Amino acid sequence: MNMPTEQAAMMQAEAQQAQQAQQAEAAQAPYDKSDLTLRDRLLEAGILLDTGEDGLYGRSEVFEDVVERLNQAITMLGADQHAEVLRFPPAMRRRDFEDSEYLKSFPNLAGTIHSFQGNDRGHHRLLEALDKIVHVGEEEERSDAWMDQQKPTRLVLTPAACYPIYPLVAKRGKLAEDGATFDAFSYCFRHEPSIDPGRMQMFRMREYIRVGSPEQVMAFRQKWIDRGSLLVNLLELPFEIDLANDPFFGRGGMIVADSQRAQQLKFELLVPVATPDRPTACLSFNYHQDHFGELWHIRQADDEVAHTACVGFGMERTTLALFRHHGLDVNAWPEKVRQLLWGDKAPLIEQGLANLGTNV
Ligand code: AMP
Ligand code: ZN
Repeated sequence: MNMPTEQAAMMQAEAQQAQQAQQAEAAQAPYDKSDLTLRDRLLEAGILLDTGEDGLYGRSEVFEDVVERLNQAITMLGADQHAEVLRFPPAMRRRDFEDSEYLKSFPNLAGTIHSFQGNDRGHHRLLEALDKIVHVGEEEERSDAWMDQQKPTRLVLTPAACYPIYPLVAKRGKLAEDGATFDAFSYCFRHEPSIDPGRMQMFRMREYIRVGSPEQVMAFRQKWIDRGSLLVNLLELPFEIDLANDPFFGRGGMIVADSQRAQQLKFELLVPVATPDRPTACLSFNYHQDHFGELWHIRQADDEVAHTACVGFGMERTTLALFRHHGLDVNAWPEKVRQLLWGDKAPLIEQGLANLGTNV
C-alpha cells in the first residue's frame, strides 16, 4: 500500500475534493449539531459521576448497562469472524510498549506507572514531602515533591486495546495461511484532559484485529467499515465516514499525519456528540501496513512480513452519542434501538448483515 495505484490515486484525489467541498461548506455554515450541554446534563442526572478531574468519570448502572449491551451487539455482529477472544488488564509490559514506537508518535498521551520502591529512609522522605504545602496564587496546595520518591515500574497503561496483542502473536511463530483474527476489549489511557465528555483519559475500546496478508487485512477493514456503519444505523444515530489521521506529536508529526491521510490508512465514523466544531470519532478503522509486523517480526505463512488492521469501537463515545440523540431516559429510546440493546437483537443483526450482501 506504499505505492498507490492509478485507481487509488484517483480515489484519493476524489476524496480530497469531497473533503475540500465539505470544508468549504462547513466554513459557511457554523457547526451546530453537537450538544454542548451534554456533559452537565449527564452529571446532573447522575449518569456520569464527576471525580473532580477532567476526563475521569464514574459510571452509573444505567451507563454501564448501555456499554454492556452495546458490547453484546458488537459480539453478535462479529460472530462469524471466529476471532480469538483475548482480554488483558489495562496495563502492558513497558518493554513491549517501548518496542511499539508509541513514544515516537504520541509521547504526550502515554501513561507510565510509577511506584515507591525505596527503603525506610525513602519512606520517611516521602511522608515529609507529602506534608509540604505550596502556594498557587491565593490557594494553598499539597506539593508534588513526594513524587520524587516514585520510580518507574515495568508496566505502562495500555494506550489502545490492540497493543498487547501484537507481541503475543509474534511469540507464537508464523501465521496460518488465513492469518489470524482477534477480539480485544480494554480500558485505555490517554493523557488528554478535556471537558469534552467524549474525550476521556480512561475509556474502553472494543476491537477486532486482523493479522495476515495485505489483501486479507484490507478486506477486513472494508468489511468493518460496512459493519460499523450497519451498527450505527441500527442505533439510529446520524453519522459520516471520513478519512482521518492520528494526532502525531510535534512538527514532524504533521508530515506523518499527511502521509497517513495520503495513503488512506485511517477512517473514522463520526457522530455529532458534544464538541463545538466537529462530530466525534466513535469508531476507527485502521490499516497499519507492515508497521507492527516489522516491529515484532510477525510472519505470514509464506515468511513475508504480516500486515495488520483493526477496528476500534469507542464504548463511551458511542454510549454518549446514544444519550445525546435519544435522550437521557433509556426507556424512551426508539423501539428498534431498544430491541437491539435490550431485546432480541439477532433478527435485526442478521437482517442487517444479509442486506450488506455476501462479501460482508
Ligand atoms: P484511536 O486509536 O484513536 O483510533 O481510537 C479508537 C477509538 O477509541 C476511537 O474511535 C474513539 O471512539 C475512542 N477514543 C479515542 N480516544 C478517546 C478518548 N480520549 N476518550 C474516549 N474515547 C476515545
Ligand atoms: Zn487497534
